[in-house]
Amino acid sequence: MNYKENRPKIIEFKNPEHIDDFPVGTTVPSGQLVKKNSGWRTFKPVINKDVCVNCLNCYIFCPDGVIYKSENKVDVDYDFCKGCGVCANECRVNAITMVKEGEE
Ligand code: SF4
Ligand code: SF4
Repeated sequence: MNYKENRPKIIEFKNPEHIDDFPVGTTVPSGQLVKKNSGWRTFKPVINKDVCVNCLNCYIFCPDGVIYKSENKVDVDYDFCKGCGVCANECRVNAITMVKEGEE
């Protein structure tokens, strides 16, 4: 059998234009992030939804896949967020502020 004939069909990539064009989430239901963080996070990202322009950079770049789409905006699953700050760094409109735990 020719393995080249069995390759999945190549689909042309189109830049997503709306939040609905992205998949439901970057997380999986179980088996990957199985433990909640243990309380060692010192800063947490807080999203100002009035400033957010829905570019989804944070959603794409979060290394833990804990940013999810919520009512046409993005939200953070704090049970798993590590507080690394990547999302805040990638947000071009500064909609994400890293706030010290307990000071929000
Ligand atoms: S702080 Fe890090 S882990 Fe938490 S949501 Fe942002 S990118 Fe993801
Ligand atoms: S990167 Fe900023 S503007 Fe883009 S979706 Fe995230 S919070 Fe909103």
